[in-house]
Amino acid sequence: MTRDTLSLSRSHAHPEWPVFSAMDPVTFEPALIRLLDRHRVAIADLLAQPEPPDWKFIEALETLDYELAGFWGPIQHLHAVADSEPLREAYKACLPRLSAYHTERGQNRSLYLSYQSLRERAPDETLDASQRKLLDDALRDFRLAGVDLSPDHQARFREIDQILSRLTNRFEEQLLDATQGWTLTLTDPVQLAGLPETARALARQNAGQRQIEGWVLTLEYPSYGPAMAYAEDRALRRTLYEAYVTRASETGPQAGRWDNGPLMEEILALRHEMAGLLGFSDFAALSFATKMAPSPEMVRTFLEDLARRVRHQAERELAELRAFARETLGLPDLEAWDMPFAAERLRKYRHDIDQEALRPYFPETRVVPGLFAVAGRLFGIRVEDQGIVDRWHPSVQCFALLDRQDQPIGYFYLDLYARPHKRGGAWLDDSLPRFKSAAGLKRPLAYIVCNFTPPVDGQPALFTHAEVETLFHEFGHALHHLLTQIDHPPVAGIHGVPWDAVELPSQFLENWCWEPEALALVSGHFQTGEAIPVDLYERLRGAKNFQSALQTLRQVEFSLFDLRLHQEYDPALGGRVYEILKAIRAAVAVVQPPAFNRFAHGFSHIFAGGYAAGYYSYKWAEVLSADAFSLFEERGVFDPATGAAFRDNILARGGSEDALSLFVAFRGREPTLDALLRQNGIAETVE
Ligand code: ZN
Repeated sequence: MTRDTLSLSRSHAHPEWPVFSAMDPVTFEPALIRLLDRHRVAIADLLAQPEPPDWKFIEALETLDYELAGFWGPIQHLHAVADSEPLREAYKACLPRLSAYHTERGQNRSLYLSYQSLRERAPDETLDASQRKLLDDALRDFRLAGVDLSPDHQARFREIDQILSRLTNRFEEQLLDATQGWTLTLTDPVQLAGLPETARALARQNAGQRQIEGWVLTLEYPSYGPAMAYAEDRALRRTLYEAYVTRASETGPQAGRWDNGPLMEEILALRHEMAGLLGFSDFAALSFATKMAPSPEMVRTFLEDLARRVRHQAERELAELRAFARETLGLPDLEAWDMPFAAERLRKYRHDIDQEALRPYFPETRVVPGLFAVAGRLFGIRVEDQGIVDRWHPSVQCFALLDRQDQPIGYFYLDLYARPHKRGGAWLDDSLPRFKSAAGLKRPLAYIVCNFTPPVDGQPALFTHAEVETLFHEFGHALHHLLTQIDHPPVAGIHGVPWDAVELPSQFLENWCWEPEALALVSGHFQTGEAIPVDLYERLRGAKNFQSALQTLRQVEFSLFDLRLHQEYDPALGGRVYEILKAIRAAVAVVQPPAFNRFAHGFSHIFAGGYAAGYYSYKWAEVLSADAFSLFEERGVFDPATGAAFRDNILARGGSEDALSLFVAFRGREPTLDALLRQNGIAETVE
C-alpha cells in the first residue's frame, strides 16, 4: 500500500471520509469486533424503548449502517485496489464476523416487527414514497433472510448460507488455480506468427518472470484473448482452446485437479433447498423476489423472443465467416478454436479498423475533461478537481460534482491505471451514500476504478476507444450514485435498485462516445490536437455492430442456461448441468462447441458471483438503456429538457420507487425491444 502523507486537510474538511494513509490491517478485525458489539447493544437499546417505533428509530439504524459502511467500505476497497498479504489475512478474518452479523440482523424478529408496526401504523401521507419503499424493501429482505421460519429452519438457513459462501468462494479459487496452473512455453518464434507486439512482450515478460527462455502463454485473459484472436498457428490455438475451456473440470490437460463439477451440484442443491425453506418453488423464483422483471417465465419468453428475432442475422454472420475462412484463410471447416481468429481477420478485412490506431486521439488529458463536459451539457453539472487529498496511490484523483449554483452534490475518486496488486476490470464502488437526517446532510462519495494503460515516456496516457467506452460506463454508474436526491441510504443512488435495472444509466451513457458531437469533446490528437479523421471515425462506427447477432445469441444462450438450471433443479435427478446446456444449444445456438467443452465449470458469474438466475440482467438492462437513448435520438443527443428528464426521473430517484415506474415516467411508456435491435444493427426477418 502506498502511504501518501501529503495532506490530510481534505479529510478534516470531510470528517466522514476514509483516511487511507492511516489504515493499518492489524487493527481491522479487533476494530470490527468492537464496532459490531457496540451496534448489537445499540439495537437492543432501541428495541427496549417503551414507545412504539417512529421514523427516528429507522434513522438510528441507518446511522449505525452508515458508520459500518464508513468502516468496512474502505477496507473492501483497499483489498481490491492495493492488496497485500496482511490486508488479505485481515480481510478474510473479518468476513465471517460480518456475515454472522448480517444474518443475525436479518432474522431478528423484534426488529422485523418494529419495521412492520411502523409500516402499518403510519398513514401513507406521513411517509413519502421513498420511506414507504424503504420499509417495504426491508420487510421483504427480513423474510428472505428467514425471519418467519421456525427456529430449526432458521438454523438450517444460516447453515446453508455459511456453506454456500464457502462453496462459491471455493468455486472461484479453483477456477483461479486452474487458470494459473497451466502454461505453454514456446521456444520457436515461428509459433508467435500473427501476434501483435503487446502480446509478444507480455509472453516474453511471463517467461522472464519464470526465468525460462522463450515465450510463455497463459490462460489469463490478457494472454489468452490475443493469442486466440491473432495466432496463425492453428495447432497452437487448438491446444490453448482445449486447456481454457476445460479449466476446473474432470477433463482436459489438468483433468480432475480442480474439478468444480461436484461443487456445482452441491451449490445447486443448497440453493434449491434454501428457496424451499422460504416457500419458493425453486431458486429462480427466489431470485426474482428482488428483480425488476416480474417472473422467470416472462424473462424466458423475452429471451426466446430475442433469440428468434436475431437468429436469421446470426446465421448470415456465421455463413459469411465460414465463407471468408474457407476462401481467404484456407480453413475449410471452421472449428471453435478458429472462430476468434477468423472473426478478427474478417473485421480487419471488412472495416480496416485497429483499436491501437485510435490511441493518439484519446489522450487522458482530453478524455477525462471531455467526459465531464459531456455530463455537464447533459445534466447541468460541473466537475471540479479537489487537488491532492488523502488517497491510496499517488495517481488517484479526487473530484467534486457541483450544481448550477456551484454547490457540491457529491464527490468521487478516479483511479484509472492498471498496476500490480490491483484487481482487473473496471467498476464503480459506492463509498458513502447520501444521508440526510436530523444530524444534517452527508453527501455521497464514490470510487471509479479502471485498469487502463498507464502513461509511458512522459506522454499522457493514450486510451483505446474501448477504454473510453468503459470510462463512460462507470461514470454512468457514478452519476446514478452521486446525483441522487433521496435522503435515505437504503434507497438512495444505486441502493435499492434491482440487479436487472442497475446497468441502465451505465450502458445508457456509453452511447455518447459514439456520437460525433460528444466525440469532438473527448478526443484530439495528443501532439497536434487534430480531430479524428472522418474516414477513421466512419470505420470505427462501421465496425460497431460487427457480428452483433452472433454475440446477442451467445448472451441469450448463457442467460437461458442460467435461468433453466435454477428453475428446473430436481433433487431426485440432480443438476443435469450439461444436459440442460445441450438442450438450450440445440434450441437457440447456431454454433455448437466441441464435446470436451466444459463452459459451466468456469461460469463464475452464476456459481461464484451474484448473477445466479440473474445473468439475463445484462440484456434486460440493455433494452432499457437502448430505449432510453432512443428518446435522445429523437430529440437531439444534447437536448437539455430530455437530459433534465433523465436526471430527474432516473438518476435522482435511485431505488426510491419501482424501476418500471421510473422508466415509464421518463420514457412516457413501457420499454420495447425495437431500439435495442436497431442500435445493434439487427434487421429482423420474418420466418
Ligand atoms: Zn456496469
